[in-house]
Amino acid sequence: MRAFDAIQIYFDAAAEHLDLEPAFREALLMPQREVQVQVSIERDDGSLANFVGFRVQHDNSRGPMKGGLRYHHEVDLDETRALASLMTWKTAVVDLPYGGAKGGIGVNPRELSHREIERLTRAFVDQIHDIVGPDTDIPAPDMGTDHQVMAWFRNQWEKYHGFQPAVITGKPVEQYGAKGREEATGRGVGMLTFKLVRRLSRQPKETRIAIQGFGNVGSHAAKFLHESEFPVVAVSDTTGTYYKADGLDIPALFHHRLQHEHGLLAGYTDCEVLPMNALLELEDVDVLIPAALGGVITEDNVDRIKASVIIEAANGPIFPAADKILYERGVTVLPDILANAGGVTVSYFEWVQNRQHYRWTLDRVRQELDHTMSSAFENVWQTSQEKDLSLRTAAYMIGIARVQRATELAGLT
Ligand code: GLU
Repeated sequence: MRAFDAIQIYFDAAAEHLDLEPAFREALLMPQREVQVQVSIERDDGSLANFVGFRVQHDNSRGPMKGGLRYHHEVDLDETRALASLMTWKTAVVDLPYGGAKGGIGVNPRELSHREIERLTRAFVDQIHDIVGPDTDIPAPDMGTDHQVMAWFRNQWEKYHGFQPAVITGKPVEQYGAKGREEATGRGVGMLTFKLVRRLSRQPKETRIAIQGFGNVGSHAAKFLHESEFPVVAVSDTTGTYYKADGLDIPALFHHRLQHEHGLLAGYTDCEVLPMNALLELEDVDVLIPAALGGVITEDNVDRIKASVIIEAANGPIFPAADKILYERGVTVLPDILANAGGVTVSYFEWVQNRQHYRWTLDRVRQELDHTMSSAFENVWQTSQEKDLSLRTAAYMIGIARVQRATELAGLT
């Protein structure tokens, strides 16, 4: 299944509960602009390498478009379009004054040197600098990109347009970045896992967690949950599943990862090491947190998933057919557009700080993140209870209704 088709199914399930004419519904779903560019660089050995880059601007009815840049070999137009529309519903459900966009380059960044990634980023900016800006479309990190890529992006963009650090978020703290931005997505995932578990009348100490992916999102979610006394029994990355029945030593895993050239867990021995895919199907897990790629839970493996709660830390980890089966089985799924909105929320705080030339403390960032995520969670939870809908459909309904309202107020024609 194509990624955008999956979003359309989720969108339709929610739109049915809203009073939307078919043509208006179509207008909300269709991206406003899709740009595909050639990105060519000179490799370190002097040879030429060509890549394809994208920026999809989905909707700006609620504010400038916002969304990350992904460097991954599977990036294509369909996936970027799906992720751009997710950003529209995500910013709406947490009520940030933004629309949605997404971009990326089809490249495996591990095959490029540091300098090659810099050249790639600068070449990409040369191609898209005209369509991004602090009041139009504000990129940020996503899979395969980090604060260093953001710093290069900003530096190159400012060569054309002059000083405006708010053109991009997720920058290094020393370069107009916000304290707490790096941990924000994972921290938000952890916070909402905690809230949901309490809502389901469970105790953290008795709630066993498994996290797929130990990158920026998965590792910070693990840290928050570990500090909140949840036993995190398994984490995985491309090198395997690391499992310990009475809970992993998350600070030790963090430390181990920092020593590894690519930030991987290979070589960690104070636990059982299982194959990478074993994590999703572990027996004694209550909460499963997919925090890596999209499309990992499908009709093919959904029957083997034992967890009774799934938190979508990644974007689009569950395909609609599997989502339906999980719902019918009574599994509670906290959807991506709410669960992982902590990242874009602190991006918003970074943008606000940049525009005011004022810096917040880490405490303030965390407090405001907690406030924003908690009120969005309460809103989605109440709507799902009142209307007897899944949390996903409730979240989409809230997001779509806000975009609908803004579009109507501005006037579509
Ligand atoms: N890439 C992140 C996401 O999918 C963050 C986007 C942002 O901060 O603009 O939500």
